[in-house]
Amino acid sequence: MKIKAVNGFKDILPDDALRRQHIEQTARDIFARFGMQEIRTPILEKTELFARSIGEATDIVEKEMYTFVDKGITMRPEATASILRAFIEHGLHVRQPVHRLYTIGPMFRHERPQKGRLRQFHQMDVEVIGANEPQVDAELMAMGQMLLDTLGVTVSLEINSLGCPACRPGFRDKLMAYLNQHKESLCPDCRRRMNVNPLRTLDCKNRNCKDLVQDAPSILDSLCNDCRDHFVSVKQTLDLLGVAYRVNRFMVRGLDYYTRTTFEFITDALGAQAAVGAGGRYDGLLRQLNGPDLPGIGFALGMERLVLLMEQQEDATPPKPTTDLFVAVLGEKAAEHASILVHRLRKLGLTAAMDYSGRSLKAQMKQAGRLNSRFTLIIGEDELACNEGVLRDMNTQEQSKFSLSLPMDEQAQHMTALLSA
Ligand SMILES: [Zn+2]
Ligand SMILES: [Zn+2]
Repeated sequence: MKIKAVNGFKDILPDDALRRQHIEQTARDIFARFGMQEIRTPILEKTELFARSIGEATDIVEKEMYTFVDKGITMRPEATASILRAFIEHGLHVRQPVHRLYTIGPMFRHERPQKGRLRQFHQMDVEVIGANEPQVDAELMAMGQMLLDTLGVTVSLEINSLGCPACRPGFRDKLMAYLNQHKESLCPDCRRRMNVNPLRTLDCKNRNCKDLVQDAPSILDSLCNDCRDHFVSVKQTLDLLGVAYRVNRFMVRGLDYYTRTTFEFITDALGAQAAVGAGGRYDGLLRQLNGPDLPGIGFALGMERLVLLMEQQEDATPPKPTTDLFVAVLGEKAAEHASILVHRLRKLGLTAAMDYSGRSLKAQMKQAGRLNSRFTLIIGEDELACNEGVLRDMNTQEQSKFSLSLPMDEQAQHMTALLSA
């Protein structure tokens, strides 16, 4: 029996990896423009970290975490908690007031595998810690939008406010009262969780629940003055920056720690409506983790969904890598000459390749094609005898002579000059 990868865990083959490299590099470039610095945290954390940050009554903590029960450790299901844990542990706030951090890497959740959803998935996660200004919320959304635009992915931005500890309990009560009146129409999931986390009924996918919450009280009508002002400023700043958005009062997000601004980048290009990225503000979370009382906001983009979206858009495909020079050889002497030349060219920064297996010239030219080679240098016995290789431009098929009699260093420099002309 062949050993296969674990269900929900996927190999990332070279073409896929190439696309991901392109996405990651684009993200790193754009994050840097916004002053973001990279942080890398471990895959494993104490289980308690996620229970205390994400919330005990969430799907993630209740049933989706990979936990080593006897060790009390868990494979991270998301990145925010780990970044905050590191932030607090290293006292980063002592050195500067505001931190802009990002991380890119795998996360793990035991969900039912489906298209675009794996048990090991990858996120690009951004967190700004220490700033409560609404302009920062808008700036983060603008950054996400800029990245998705640059990648050629079409999304719409939806925003909402979830209020704060001062005003959310009031809304919760109003919502509970409404839900209690209509309890019999709720799906079993909602009936179960309405007492623990009634807000989750607002984004239930069940048809009946969806219809029912249309007439539920709106959180936006329950916001305290501070939260209302904050939300108004977020929207004004988005307008100033020219970022389009839609207010969606039913967006509550699956995590308990969100306060005030929440947002999602939505696409309907993957069948059902899906979020490519999502995030929000979590002003009480650092304190909840015994850290300093600092506000924070962040979001994560899902790599797998981005990859699916980009596969649908041919023009968004990153160009196939090219080989500057392939050296086709016949005979041992020619191979020896070529191996020295190839090595020196690589030292000079070129992508060079050759074949060691002594295959026919025709087979080697095929290989040059597969490697997307710009030029091929042919060195056979005749070429060695007269000390002149044949350099072929693979695009135009034009051929010229290349001197093999110069010292190797000079040959390499000469070749580099020819190829960069
Ligand atoms: Zn409030
Ligand atoms: Zn429901």
